[in-house]
Amino acid sequence: MAVSPERGLRLARMLLACACALLAAPSAATDAISVTPVRVSEHVWYVQGQSGPASAANQGYISNAGFVLTSEGVVVIDALGTPALGQALLAAIRSVSAAPIKRVIVTHYHSDHFYGLPAFKSEGAEIWAHKSARAYLEGSVAPARLEQRRRVLAPWVDENTPLLPPDRWLEGSTSFVLGGLHFDLIYVGPAHAPDDLVVNIREDQALFSGDLVFSGRVPYVGDADSRRWLAAMDELLRQNPKVMIPGHGAASSDAAADLVFTRDYLRYLRAAMGKAAEDMMPFEDAYKQTDWSPYLEMPAFDAANRANAYGTYLLMERESLQKQ
Ligand SMILES: [Zn+2]
Repeated sequence: MAVSPERGLRLARMLLACACALLAAPSAATDAISVTPVRVSEHVWYVQGQSGPASAANQGYISNAGFVLTSEGVVVIDALGTPALGQALLAAIRSVSAAPIKRVIVTHYHSDHFYGLPAFKSEGAEIWAHKSARAYLEGSVAPARLEQRRRVLAPWVDENTPLLPPDRWLEGSTSFVLGGLHFDLIYVGPAHAPDDLVVNIREDQALFSGDLVFSGRVPYVGDADSRRWLAAMDELLRQNPKVMIPGHGAASSDAAADLVFTRDYLRYLRAAMGKAAEDMMPFEDAYKQTDWSPYLEMPAFDAANRANAYGTYLLMERESLQKQ
């Protein structure tokens, strides 16, 4: 069979990419990923993960985390996706403050946001999360996800990586004051996850949106409740943040504008899969017929889009049955 020059070139590039990946693999195990704190307001800092899905190359550094320096200690929001990254986040905090770490707020129990908790537990921090994470942690999904992460993120996730539960389960929204700063923990789940919390630091008008907002990549939707997710975004805008730190992607000084990508993606999924569910078209056909070109080139498209579409298809079937 003849191979066109263009195809030959593509094959050569692919082989080269594989060879580079193989060559890079041993050193990747020893090279620390750089976790750099960025100040976004008077008291608030964050670190920004890379944009693709979790892989050996990015060592699982695919999500954001942040911290707030108060006169009475540090509050951390999320802990990143491996124990080593938790340590790296702690080191990033220590590069700007020696104050005690008082509390870690987990915006939601997805692996890329909480596997780094052991570093903070060792520091004596109290971990807070919404009680809706309990079913996930105590069910079969969390161990299955851990298994998957052990495969994808070895050696950074291994048989010693614990699924640490919070020290305090929150019943709903709550607020506290530390070092003169007001923290509002607003429960907006189930939306992206059953236990979604957004965290607003009132004096700084700085808001951690958790994974209600993704920028720079296709969001992870899975079996999320996208109807409630869209409603939760309105709640987020009501907080009128000066700076918003999304779960993935760069911090934003224009929350309304930077919500648009996630919102439009969810609407697109719901419209395409909703129509298919209503027409009782099988999922495979619906997926093939949908024009995915607006998202095709985005990071994480291959890893997330099909599962997002399938989860949304099932959701739209349920929603359409409820209507009848
Ligand atoms: Zn998530």
